Amino acid sequence: MSQLEIRNLHVSIEDKEILKGLTLTINQGEVHAIMGPNGTGKSTLAYTLMGHPNYTVTAGEIIFKGKNLLELESDERSRAGIFLAFQYPVAIPGVTVANFLRTAVNARRRAENPEDKGIPILEFRKMLKEKMAMLKMDQAFAGRYLNDGFSGGEKKRAEILQMATLKPEIAILDETDSGLDIDALRIVSEGVNALSGPELGVLVITHYQRLLNYIKPHFVHIMMHGRIVESGGPDLALHLEEQGYDWVREKYEEAV
Ligand code: ADP
Ligand code: MG
Repeated sequence: MSQLEIRNLHVSIEDKEILKGLTLTINQGEVHAIMGPNGTGKSTLAYTLMGHPNYTVTAGEIIFKGKNLLELESDERSRAGIFLAFQYPVAIPGVTVANFLRTAVNARRRAENPEDKGIPILEFRKMLKEKMAMLKMDQAFAGRYLNDGFSGGEKKRAEILQMATLKPEIAILDETDSGLDIDALRIVSEGVNALSGPELGVLVITHYQRLLNYIKPHFVHIMMHGRIVESGGPDLALHLEEQGYDWVREKYEEAV
């Protein structure tokens, strides 16, 4: 039952409707990619899932593990097992990557069991070491201050490491504009490919078709004018790569 179900979602920003009836289900073990031209509402979907206060849900539902996600605060969503990659982009001087991750892991454990005493330090260190080895990361990275002077690629690494240690049930990655060089793309896709498995559902959002050369989604969705207009398998991504978005635009041209 651990799934994310978005039904007929309508979302407005400052009275302008951006999402106009978006429906999507993501189960654990599935990797979904949402593609679509700029301005179609992809980031709006990500922010809404995260609970950003500027985005008003006017209709529809989001159900996570049988519960109404819209009733949960952002931090409660995270502790419940939803991971949003852009949730902690800020630099936190004085807090190391390792300390930050340990705090986050403990918050998640306490959400599951209020009696939890926190992960023992040795167990945490061992786990972190394993995750970093799996992601081919330099162990020294864990001792650096979070995002403090990080390059775009290092921020991506921190993000993926966070995902690896928190073990979310659903991970949502909005691969927006900045820092989307080939390096960052590779880090994200290798991370997602390494972490994906029966326990994890992934939603990767991007306007960048090239991402799908690296990530292996089970499902590809095309978003246009605030809703998903086409869904398919990896072949849909190939088709997009060859044909671009023009055929989608023509097919779903909005009446002006
Ligand atoms: P995408 O991620 O697909 O490029 P966005 O979700 O960022 O699209 O934006 C969708 C639409 O919402 C765009 O028309 C954009 O101009 C508008 N929009 C985004 N953020 C705001 C905002 N803070 N205030 C008003 N309009 C916004
Ligand atoms: Mg966007």
